[in-house]
Amino acid sequence: MFTLPDLPYKYNALEPYIDEATMKIHHGKHHAAYVDNLNKALESNSQLAGNSATQLLQNLARVPDPIKQAVINHAGGHTNHSFFWEIMSPKSNPPGGKLLEALNSTFGNVDKFKEEFTNKAMSVFGSGWTFLILTHDGKLALKRQSFQNSPIMQGNIPILGVDVWEHAYYLKYQNRRADYIAAWWHVVNWKQAEQNFNEALK
Ligand code: MN
Repeated sequence: MFTLPDLPYKYNALEPYIDEATMKIHHGKHHAAYVDNLNKALESNSQLAGNSATQLLQNLARVPDPIKQAVINHAGGHTNHSFFWEIMSPKSNPPGGKLLEALNSTFGNVDKFKEEFTNKAMSVFGSGWTFLILTHDGKLALKRQSFQNSPIMQGNIPILGVDVWEHAYYLKYQNRRADYIAAWWHVVNWKQAEQNFNEALK
Protein backbone atom coordinates (compact mmCIF):
# COMPACT_ATOMS: atom_id res chain seq x y z
CA MET A 1 0.00 0.00 0.00
CA PHE A 2 1.23 3.43 -0.93
CA THR A 3 0.59 6.28 1.48
CA LEU A 4 0.62 10.05 1.17
CA PRO A 5 3.87 11.41 2.63
CA ASP A 6 3.64 14.37 5.02
CA LEU A 7 4.80 17.70 3.70
CA PRO A 8 8.26 18.58 5.11
CA TYR A 9 6.82 21.99 6.20
CA LYS A 10 3.46 23.55 6.99
CA TYR A 11 0.87 24.32 4.32
CA ASN A 12 1.44 28.05 4.76
CA ALA A 13 5.26 27.81 4.91
CA LEU A 14 5.84 28.82 1.29
CA GLU A 15 3.72 32.00 1.50
CA PRO A 16 3.63 34.44 -0.16
CA TYR A 17 5.14 32.62 -3.14
CA ILE A 18 2.98 29.50 -3.02
CA ASP A 19 -0.24 30.07 -1.12
CA GLU A 20 -1.68 27.90 1.64
CA ALA A 21 -4.94 27.07 -0.17
CA THR A 22 -3.05 25.79 -3.21
CA MET A 23 -0.73 23.70 -1.04
CA LYS A 24 -3.64 22.16 0.87
CA ILE A 25 -5.52 21.13 -2.25
CA HIS A 26 -2.39 20.17 -4.18
CA HIS A 27 -1.07 17.88 -1.45
CA GLY A 28 -4.26 16.79 0.31
CA LYS A 29 -6.42 16.24 -2.79
CA HIS A 30 -4.33 15.96 -5.96
CA HIS A 31 -1.36 14.05 -4.58
CA ALA A 32 -3.66 11.97 -2.37
CA ALA A 33 -5.68 10.99 -5.46
CA TYR A 34 -2.55 9.74 -7.25
CA VAL A 35 -1.75 7.58 -4.22
CA ASP A 36 -5.31 6.21 -4.00
CA ASN A 37 -5.50 5.49 -7.71
CA LEU A 38 -2.10 3.78 -7.70
CA ASN A 39 -3.30 1.51 -4.90
CA LYS A 40 -6.49 0.77 -6.84
CA ALA A 41 -4.56 -0.02 -10.01
CA LEU A 42 -2.41 -2.54 -8.14
CA GLU A 43 -5.26 -4.12 -6.15
CA SER A 44 -5.50 -7.15 -8.38
CA ASN A 45 -1.71 -7.53 -8.80
CA SER A 46 -0.24 -8.84 -5.58
CA GLN A 47 3.11 -9.50 -7.31
CA LEU A 48 3.56 -5.86 -8.27
CA ALA A 49 2.28 -4.46 -5.00
CA GLY A 50 5.66 -5.02 -3.31
CA ASN A 51 7.44 -2.65 -5.69
CA SER A 52 8.22 0.97 -4.92
CA ALA A 53 6.75 3.56 -7.29
CA THR A 54 10.26 4.11 -8.67
CA GLN A 55 10.71 0.40 -9.33
CA LEU A 56 7.38 0.29 -11.17
CA LEU A 57 8.36 3.22 -13.39
CA GLN A 58 11.80 1.75 -14.09
CA ASN A 59 10.32 -1.61 -15.06
CA LEU A 60 7.16 -0.82 -16.96
CA ALA A 61 7.71 -3.83 -19.19
CA ARG A 62 6.75 -5.97 -16.19
CA VAL A 63 3.44 -4.13 -15.71
CA PRO A 64 0.50 -5.82 -17.47
CA ASP A 65 -1.02 -3.81 -20.35
CA PRO A 66 -4.49 -3.32 -18.81
CA ILE A 67 -3.01 -1.33 -15.90
CA LYS A 68 0.13 0.09 -17.53
CA GLN A 69 -1.26 3.56 -18.27
CA ALA A 70 -2.77 3.82 -14.78
CA VAL A 71 0.62 2.94 -13.27
CA ILE A 72 2.37 5.54 -15.47
CA ASN A 73 -0.16 8.21 -14.44
CA HIS A 74 -0.39 7.47 -10.74
CA ALA A 75 3.05 6.09 -9.85
CA GLY A 76 4.33 9.05 -11.89
CA GLY A 77 2.02 11.45 -10.07
CA HIS A 78 3.05 10.02 -6.71
CA THR A 79 6.82 10.17 -7.32
CA ASN A 80 6.69 13.56 -9.08
CA HIS A 81 4.79 15.16 -6.21
CA SER A 82 6.84 13.50 -3.46
CA PHE A 83 9.90 14.90 -5.26
CA PHE A 84 8.30 18.33 -5.71
CA TRP A 85 7.53 18.90 -2.00
CA GLU A 86 11.15 18.16 -1.11
CA ILE A 87 12.57 20.45 -3.77
CA MET A 88 10.86 23.43 -2.16
CA SER A 89 11.65 25.00 1.20
CA PRO A 90 10.69 28.12 3.14
CA LYS A 91 14.45 28.56 3.63
CA SER A 92 15.78 28.76 0.11
CA ASN A 93 19.54 28.79 -0.31
CA PRO A 94 21.87 29.42 -3.25
CA PRO A 95 23.13 26.49 -5.35
CA GLY A 96 26.52 25.12 -4.38
CA GLY A 97 28.93 22.21 -4.55
CA LYS A 98 29.29 19.96 -7.56
CA LEU A 99 25.85 20.94 -8.81
CA LEU A 100 26.88 24.59 -9.05
CA GLU A 101 29.99 23.59 -11.00
CA ALA A 102 27.92 21.45 -13.36
CA LEU A 103 25.32 24.21 -13.87
CA ASN A 104 28.07 26.67 -14.70
CA SER A 105 29.77 24.36 -17.17
CA THR A 106 26.51 23.24 -18.82
CA PHE A 107 24.53 26.50 -18.94
CA GLY A 108 27.19 29.22 -18.48
CA ASN A 109 25.99 30.43 -15.08
CA VAL A 110 23.08 30.04 -12.68
CA ASP A 111 21.09 32.95 -14.13
CA LYS A 112 21.36 31.48 -17.63
CA PHE A 113 20.26 28.12 -16.28
CA LYS A 114 17.24 29.71 -14.59
CA GLU A 115 16.34 31.54 -17.79
CA GLU A 116 16.53 28.35 -19.90
CA PHE A 117 14.65 26.32 -17.32
CA THR A 118 11.93 28.99 -17.10
CA ASN A 119 11.59 29.12 -20.90
CA LYS A 120 11.27 25.34 -20.98
CA ALA A 121 8.60 25.41 -18.27
CA MET A 122 6.72 28.18 -20.08
CA SER A 123 6.70 26.08 -23.26
CA VAL A 124 4.98 23.06 -21.71
CA PHE A 125 1.69 22.85 -23.63
CA GLY A 126 -1.11 21.85 -21.28
CA SER A 127 -0.46 19.88 -18.12
CA GLY A 128 3.05 18.74 -17.30
CA TRP A 129 6.40 19.37 -15.71
CA THR A 130 9.87 20.64 -16.46
CA PHE A 131 12.85 18.92 -14.89
CA LEU A 132 16.58 19.37 -14.63
CA ILE A 133 17.79 15.81 -15.08
CA LEU A 134 20.98 13.84 -15.02
CA THR A 135 20.85 11.71 -18.15
CA HIS A 136 21.95 8.07 -18.15
CA ASP A 137 25.15 9.20 -19.90
CA GLY A 138 25.93 11.60 -17.06
CA LYS A 139 24.92 14.98 -18.48
CA LEU A 140 22.73 17.71 -17.04
CA ALA A 141 19.79 18.51 -19.31
CA LEU A 142 16.36 20.12 -19.30
CA LYS A 143 13.38 17.89 -19.97
CA ARG A 144 9.69 18.62 -20.39
CA GLN A 145 7.28 15.89 -19.39
CA SER A 146 3.60 15.77 -20.30
CA PHE A 147 0.94 14.78 -17.75
CA GLN A 148 2.57 12.80 -14.91
CA ASN A 149 5.22 11.10 -17.03
CA SER A 150 8.33 10.79 -14.90
CA PRO A 151 11.95 11.22 -16.05
CA ILE A 152 12.60 7.94 -14.23
CA MET A 153 10.66 6.11 -16.97
CA GLN A 154 13.35 7.09 -19.47
CA GLY A 155 16.25 6.16 -17.19
CA ASN A 156 16.97 9.78 -16.23
CA ILE A 157 17.33 11.09 -12.69
CA PRO A 158 15.44 14.24 -11.66
CA ILE A 159 17.54 16.86 -9.88
CA LEU A 160 15.08 19.75 -9.81
CA GLY A 161 11.57 20.11 -11.20
CA VAL A 162 8.54 22.35 -11.37
CA ASP A 163 4.91 21.33 -11.64
CA VAL A 164 3.21 23.47 -14.29
CA TRP A 165 -0.22 21.83 -14.13
CA GLU A 166 -2.74 24.63 -13.59
CA HIS A 167 -3.68 23.03 -10.26
CA ALA A 168 -0.20 24.08 -9.03
CA TYR A 169 -0.88 27.80 -9.46
CA TYR A 170 -4.34 28.72 -10.70
CA LEU A 171 -5.86 29.79 -7.35
CA LYS A 172 -3.23 32.48 -6.80
CA TYR A 173 -1.85 33.19 -10.26
CA GLN A 174 -4.78 32.25 -12.54
CA ASN A 175 -3.37 32.04 -16.09
CA ARG A 176 -0.08 33.75 -15.17
CA ARG A 177 2.30 30.81 -15.25
CA ALA A 178 5.29 33.14 -15.66
CA ASP A 179 4.48 34.84 -12.33
CA TYR A 180 4.15 31.47 -10.63
CA ILE A 181 7.53 30.29 -11.92
CA ALA A 182 9.20 33.58 -10.97
CA ALA A 183 7.78 33.14 -7.43
CA TRP A 184 8.75 29.46 -7.32
CA TRP A 185 12.45 30.30 -7.69
CA HIS A 186 12.21 31.97 -4.25
CA VAL A 187 11.36 28.67 -2.58
CA VAL A 188 13.71 26.31 -4.41
CA ASN A 189 15.54 24.02 -2.00
CA TRP A 190 18.95 24.01 -3.66
CA LYS A 191 20.40 21.91 -0.83
CA GLN A 192 18.01 19.13 -1.81
CA ALA A 193 18.85 19.59 -5.51
CA GLU A 194 22.54 19.31 -4.64
CA GLN A 195 21.82 16.15 -2.65
CA ASN A 196 19.83 14.72 -5.59
CA PHE A 197 22.76 15.47 -7.89
CA ASN A 198 25.36 13.95 -5.58
CA GLU A 199 23.22 10.80 -5.23
CA ALA A 200 22.71 10.65 -9.00
CA LEU A 201 26.46 10.73 -9.63
CA LYS A 202 27.03 7.61 -7.53
MN1 MN B 1 0.58 18.71 -9.23
